[in-house]
Amino acid sequence: MMTIQNYVRPQTLEQAYELLSKNRRNRAVAGMLWLRLTGGSIQTAVDLCDLGLDTMEETDDAFVIGAMTPLRKLELAPGFAAYTGGAAARALGDIVGVQFRNLATVGGSVFGRFGFSDVLTLLLALDTEVELYGAGRMPLAEFAELPQTTRDLLVRIYVKKTPGNVAYRAVRIARTDFPVLTCAASRLDGKVRLCVGARPGKAMVLDLTEAAAGGLTPDTVKSLAEEAAKQILTGSNSRGSAAYRSHLVRVLAERTLSQVGGFGNGD
Ligand SMILES: Cc1cc2nc3c(=O)[nH]c(=O)nc-3n(C[C@H](O)[C@H](O)[C@H](O)COP(=O)(O)OP(=O)(O)OC[C@H]3O[C@@H](n4cnc5c(N)ncnc54)[C@H](O)[C@@H]3O)c2cc1C
Repeated sequence: MMTIQNYVRPQTLEQAYELLSKNRRNRAVAGMLWLRLTGGSIQTAVDLCDLGLDTMEETDDAFVIGAMTPLRKLELAPGFAAYTGGAAARALGDIVGVQFRNLATVGGSVFGRFGFSDVLTLLLALDTEVELYGAGRMPLAEFAELPQTTRDLLVRIYVKKTPGNVAYRAVRIARTDFPVLTCAASRLDGKVRLCVGARPGKAMVLDLTEAAAGGLTPDTVKSLAEEAAKQILTGSNSRGSAAYRSHLVRVLAERTLSQVGGFGNGD
């Protein structure tokens, strides 16, 4: 069971940051869907709901996603859907259910850096940066490797509109369950990336640009997928064995890279 001593709704980012910096037992609260399952004792719950961070904006060169933006908003945003060619809906659409995705936030998902995260896998395949209060902007790939500290306040996520395409697939034992494996491939400005999550560890990113320099042909994609299955570290848990996951890496890598190469529909 979780206990909370105080509950505060700061009105400015500065107040929120001060509260989070003050005591390691103070915690940022977003949708609270994950946090409530973690148990433990929170000194002050710092609810971020009054900070105006639940908006998503499209500029000429980026999608600017406030940390409190619900997953459902990201899933349905027409500009983001068009930019990702439907990959966003693919990545988000099986996360529990619509009511859940109306509450769970993009910031909570990114901050959590969960191994099983569909959200992290998709965003790592895109040109994504995060903005932390005080520390400023950094690439998501860098942020994903940092240890979690309760002092960090994630403010916004920036997905740059780098020209290219992206494809997403995941395997679940049953719809709405946690994924057995997540996979996103992208080719942005000629840079080819493959991200695999739910290994069950956090998403790993492979830069395939050099290996795909001759173009993404069916033969190249096949060998890239075989190589990815060797390079991506997998483990076992109740949802699948390491061997099964490595098999899925090969299959999903081939499907997503084929789609990015323009000769497959990802299925
Ligand atoms: C039963 C269940 C099933 C799920 N299945 C999936 C799935 O299949 N795929 C998937 O991708 N995800 C899944 N998730 C994760 C979910 O989508 C959200 O990522 C998760 O609930 C966190 O979002 P939240 O808004 O609820 O954050 P919270 O639970 O409120 O917070 C999560 C953590 O992030 C911190 N935090 C939140 N926002 C900020 C911020 N702006 N700055 C600093 N720290 C912050 C909190 O302090 C806390 O440590 C699942 C979650 C649950 C509970």
